[in-house]
Amino acid sequence: MTRPYDQNHRETLGAQLHLPVAERTCPVCGRTTMRLYHHTTYGRSEPSWINYLWCGNCHAYSSSFTGAGRKMVESDPLLEQYGDRISEVFRDPERLLTILDGYWKAGKLPQVISRRPRGG
Ligand SMILES: [Zn+2]
Repeated sequence: MTRPYDQNHRETLGAQLHLPVAERTCPVCGRTTMRLYHHTTYGRSEPSWINYLWCGNCHAYSSSFTGAGRKMVESDPLLEQYGDRISEVFRDPERLLTILDGYWKAGKLPQVISRRPRGG
C-alpha cells in the first residue's frame, strides 16, 4: 500500500545513507528493494531536486526537496514521457510509483548523476 514513511522509518533510512540505494533495507517490509528518483526543477535561482525514495515491494515512500548543488541527473524518463503533465503524476503517489517501478525494471532508473561544471 502506498503511504509515506513515518518519522521512525525516515530515521532508519537516514542511518543507511552511506549505502548504495540498492543495498538499503525498507523499514516497513524488510526487503532490500529501495529505489530512488530525482526530478530537477528550475523555479529558484539555482536548480533543485524533488527526490522520491521508495520501496519497490511495499510502496512506502519518502519525498523531499533539496538544492541540487553541482549535481545533475543525466536523464529524466518521467519528464521525457510526461512533459508538462508531470505535475499531474506527482499528485498521485500510487500512479507515480507504479510508473517509476516500470522505469526501474526497464533499466532507465537509477539515473546517472554527474557534476555540473563550475561556473556553468
Ligand atoms: Zn517495503
